[in-house]
Amino acid sequence: MCGIVGYTGPREAYPIVIKGLKRLEYRGYDSTGVALQNDGLKVYKKKGKVADLEETVVGKNLHAHAGIGHTRWATHGEPNDRNAHPHQSASGKLAMIHNGIIENYAQLKNELLKKGYSFKSDTDTEVLLNFIEEIMINNACSLEEAVRVALKRVVGAYVILLLNEDDPETIIAARKGSPLVIGVGKGEHFLGSDASPMLEYTKEVVYVNDYELAIIRPDELILKNLGNEKLTPYVQKLDLELAAIEKGGYDHFMLKEIFEQPQTIQDCLRGRLDAEAGTITMAGIEQYAEQIINAKRIVMVACGTSWHAGLVAEYIFEELCRINVEVEYASEFRYRNPVISEGDVIIAISQSGETADTLVAIETAKAKGAIILGVVNVVGSSIARISHAGAYTHAGPEIGVASTKAFTAQLAVLCMIALKIGYAKGTLSRERYMGLLKELNAIPEKLAIALTHSEHIRGLARKYMDARDFLYLGRGYNFPVALEGALKLKEISYIHAEGYPAAEMKHGPIALVDESLPVVFVATRDSYHEKVVSNMQEIKARKGMVVSVITEGDEVSTGLSNDVMQVPECDEILAPMLSVVPLQLLAYYIGVEKKLDVDKPRNLAKSVTVE
Ligand code: GLU
Repeated sequence: MCGIVGYTGPREAYPIVIKGLKRLEYRGYDSTGVALQNDGLKVYKKKGKVADLEETVVGKNLHAHAGIGHTRWATHGEPNDRNAHPHQSASGKLAMIHNGIIENYAQLKNELLKKGYSFKSDTDTEVLLNFIEEIMINNACSLEEAVRVALKRVVGAYVILLLNEDDPETIIAARKGSPLVIGVGKGEHFLGSDASPMLEYTKEVVYVNDYELAIIRPDELILKNLGNEKLTPYVQKLDLELAAIEKGGYDHFMLKEIFEQPQTIQDCLRGRLDAEAGTITMAGIEQYAEQIINAKRIVMVACGTSWHAGLVAEYIFEELCRINVEVEYASEFRYRNPVISEGDVIIAISQSGETADTLVAIETAKAKGAIILGVVNVVGSSIARISHAGAYTHAGPEIGVASTKAFTAQLAVLCMIALKIGYAKGTLSRERYMGLLKELNAIPEKLAIALTHSEHIRGLARKYMDARDFLYLGRGYNFPVALEGALKLKEISYIHAEGYPAAEMKHGPIALVDESLPVVFVATRDSYHEKVVSNMQEIKARKGMVVSVITEGDEVSTGLSNDVMQVPECDEILAPMLSVVPLQLLAYYIGVEKKLDVDKPRNLAKSVTVE
């Protein structure tokens, strides 16, 4: 959460920082601010999005060759101008931006208050900044030294970037628990929460690790650990093009990403799945295949949409691999002293690979002897780096805050792992294995067909957009899809929605049913279908409005539904990859019809790097 950008070099810093912030806005949009070295430090900040800040600075002298910028997702102090970053130290000589939470800020603040400090904001960030300045003055040391000393006292997560008025070309940066990428140019350096702000300038990047501190000047990058030892920066080549992070003619990133799914699944399967030869190549998984086959238990650890992907995978792994699977919310798992036995396999699922709770959960499990597999989208992200092995989803950058293409790509990867393990273990017959490979191979094509119904779904959005609540129901593989459909609607349209296993409805939610409640059934043709059809009857009998996701040509469900959304026929194990698509579109179009900012829904942010 929160986007940070920095630049030092011969170019004008302000346009680079602003453009970078716009690309990182998906990470937070409570307020925006920049600090520029322009004959002394100049700080401009404003509640709201980057565009609001741009209006504020019209006519100002923004000339600078070094600058930092922040787009906030508030944790401490409400979103307003005062709490916006950058913050300035008591002397006014230092400016700092921060992504994360300083957990012991209250204690540090008390110490500073006793020393006579006062604070202009309610943030934990301003406390840390003044704490750093206090050390700098007391110890008569450099800013770099003061940061190092201060961070040894800090409990929490951070990326911080600092400017010092007395050293105008230098940016000091440090990280623990939040992401930081440094772009290395010729006589210039770029900084970002991810690589998107630097894409058009350089393809050489350094991913900063936890407990590292960087001193960045136009022609110099010094990396150190908190013990003041120099480290050699590991410069990597970035494999990301500018077009991948632009809207490409779509009104919103969310729509673009929904429509990209045939391609992203193709990319995810490419080089791995060979349906003719009957092979799945996944180097990371192969390395640990023996341990996975022999595992007594697999634990999927994730949050939000990724947790729903884990639920689908639970059904798939149990069916194909006959291994006991549990699915855990990372935030619960990490705090409750879970029982982990040597040889347990943990699959961590995260789009960003930076989800704070998931990261800590797997660190805990790793320390207890579990094997950690990461299923992440962002290459080089923290989860990818601390996992023993894993597989990237290759969905490309996902910028819409509500996850869509990352979900289906996670399903594709998890499915390939289950197929590979199940076949190697002998719990999956060759015939079924070969059949499923073929089916999986055909998913991109079927996704393209599912997307041809988007205009019809837009019409349904208009029809149902004024409902106060929605119920989403599904069974078996489609139960997690019902949860995901409800989550999408909540996120994007702010309509209350609940997902339930269809049979559970009778134990409570059915009391909500009346003629004003749309009940969305995820009812593609599978082994549970007849049961789901009975559940539809039950809703109809109580005058509920039935809207169903069905397999093309399913006349029985059509007859029972007020409206249907069709997807092509496919094996039930793979059906969630298709049945979720109409629900993504429905949520999107309801949000659009309600004139909401679907790419940046209120209070949310992508890449949840705070607990
Ligand atoms: N904790 C800081 C604040 O509330 C930073 C939050 C963020 O990562 O945007 O301002």
